[in-house]
Amino acid sequence: MDFSRLDTPFYLYDTDLLRQTLRQLTAAADRHGNIHIHYAVKANANPKVLRVIRESGIGIDCVSGGEIQAALDAGFPASSIVFAGVGKSDREIRLGLHHDIFCFNVESIPELEVINELAGEMGRTANVCLRINPNVDAHTHANITTGLAENKFGIALEDMERLIALARQLDHIRWRGLHFHVGSQITDMSVFSTLSDRINEIQDRLDAAGLHMDIINVGGGLGIDYDDPAGHPIPDFDAYFAAYAQHLRLRKGQEVHVELGRSIVGQCGSLITRVLYVKQGAVKQFAICDAGMTDLIRPALYDAHHHIDNITATGAVLLSDAPAAVGRMERYDVVGPICESSDVFDKDVLLPVVRRGDILALRSAGAYGEIMASRYNCRPFALPYTTDELRKEC
Ligand SMILES: *Cc1c(COP(=O)(O)O)cnc(C)c1O
Repeated sequence: MDFSRLDTPFYLYDTDLLRQTLRQLTAAADRHGNIHIHYAVKANANPKVLRVIRESGIGIDCVSGGEIQAALDAGFPASSIVFAGVGKSDREIRLGLHHDIFCFNVESIPELEVINELAGEMGRTANVCLRINPNVDAHTHANITTGLAENKFGIALEDMERLIALARQLDHIRWRGLHFHVGSQITDMSVFSTLSDRINEIQDRLDAAGLHMDIINVGGGLGIDYDDPAGHPIPDFDAYFAAYAQHLRLRKGQEVHVELGRSIVGQCGSLITRVLYVKQGAVKQFAICDAGMTDLIRPALYDAHHHIDNITATGAVLLSDAPAAVGRMERYDVVGPICESSDVFDKDVLLPVVRRGDILALRSAGAYGEIMASRYNCRPFALPYTTDELRKEC
């Protein structure tokens, strides 16, 4: 493909890979029974991406009013929307009530009371799951760990019965069950079995108290392979669902809900950037790109690693393209143009010799990439293209 007519940087979304991922996801869920999938839209809310996801028929998980609006605009039915977040504003709660969304995942007593009050004013009843903080270590980066007692998310286990009692007593609340989400980029399946064990203990406790629920929402968090995206373009959804199927003891009629973000969209996106300069530093060789932390903040924010390909050298634009043989390799610090020392994509990366004008692809940029972009340094937002659009353009 000839990119010379396109401005760089840009996001490239491989919609074929996305469709394949969605097919494998829904097939794996079907094999494991009564599982309802909600796509966590905070990973990527690009309308072109949302349209493909909506066509697969799965539901959606929102953490703000803006996300609820984006989901509705993309054609997701309100009856498939779950809404979490520690700080829901009155306006956001009213939006959810107005559209009669499937469920509010409630994170505190004051929030529960406000939802009850607003629902009363609007003559509605809100379906509610209580988000419990199960104090389970997700064994992932501290900035994306959410299920430890010290984190701001969810309701403490000690307060659970008191909150359920309160929820059952409020006139405009219908208590449906419990919600959990312990973190993101989880690659150790034992985290999900540990969470299942904790949920089983909780269910035993609630059974003893005569409290029955029909929804158990286990959240998201399944990780992707950032080191070898071409080798593992689609996560092992079967192993993920098996961890729950083997460990979670469900009661009769209970539905399991999951909220996956990264594992659905992560591998389908690449950030495509042009090398502006190759600079020989005192101790390093730098490949200076026209993309920076404003387009992909994960390396700066989470110490994240993104695989980088010199696609001018390999000719492999998509993960599924076979790379051509390459010549000499050298090491580079691949950096952006932003005036911040943390604006580094990766250090000492071995790449086929890089020249000014070469095009690099930062892989696995489909999740928490474009959606976290900023205009710092007054930079314009990079444009998104799907593979179909690119084939037409180039
Ligand atoms: C972020 C988030 C998710 C999705 O997390 P992934 O790691 O992208 O799967 C699911 N549920 C809630 C409540 C979230 O905040």
